[in-house]
Amino acid sequence: MRAMLCVIAIGACAVQDPQPGYDDTPVLPGQKWKVHDKTRPRPERVTPGDVPSDAVVLFDGKDLSKWKGAWKAENGYVEVVRGKGDLVSTEEFGDCQLHIEWCAPAGGKAQGQARGNSGVFLMSRYEIQVLDSHESITYADGQAAAIYGQWPPLVNASRPSGEWQSYDIVFTAPRFKDDKLESPAYVTVLHNGVVVHNHAEILGPTAHRSLPKYAPHGAAGPIRLQDHGDPVRYRNIWVRKL
Ligand code: MG
Repeated sequence: MRAMLCVIAIGACAVQDPQPGYDDTPVLPGQKWKVHDKTRPRPERVTPGDVPSDAVVLFDGKDLSKWKGAWKAENGYVEVVRGKGDLVSTEEFGDCQLHIEWCAPAGGKAQGQARGNSGVFLMSRYEIQVLDSHESITYADGQAAAIYGQWPPLVNASRPSGEWQSYDIVFTAPRFKDDKLESPAYVTVLHNGVVVHNHAEILGPTAHRSLPKYAPHGAAGPIRLQDHGDPVRYRNIWVRKL
């Protein structure tokens, strides 16, 4: 008991160094900071949770005010309305972390690209495919979670249609200098928590039956959800700018 009280007392009296670190260490290559630099700013605090405290909530299940388009929001989700066009965020994003959940309609006889097709377009240009790929097959670079027309997912982590699925996407926007590509876009994608792209290089804007080719654009662009004619649903959409 005496020992325990002693530990508590020491803990209560311990004074934290207001500026911990060192100033006699070497400078890190490519950085302006020294190893354990005492003057280096510490990261801002973010409260983690289902939605991190610094996230921009784009869709909370009801409110479509952060989108342009004519899809319907009900029962906690927003659903593609065939022929009404894409749903486009009013806010624009470059480098970002995006969380989005989707559900392909259950049943029906359609197969391949006609089965629960939609898509998440980053910067309105670079598509992560949404499709029912649980049993139905299509070309590899067009199945669910593919970087459409470029890279198949590393594995098929699809759930059956009618079930909710998630994408967690970490996106690095391409850089252009003097109207020339300086560095391509990169993307890391988790499908239902499974890594399906690990810092994959995006070869250019999404194209169908042709090669992608970069064209210069700004540092940010909207998130666009595709109307491919199928009543795919989305919910819990949030983004963190990086
Ligand atoms: Mg698509």
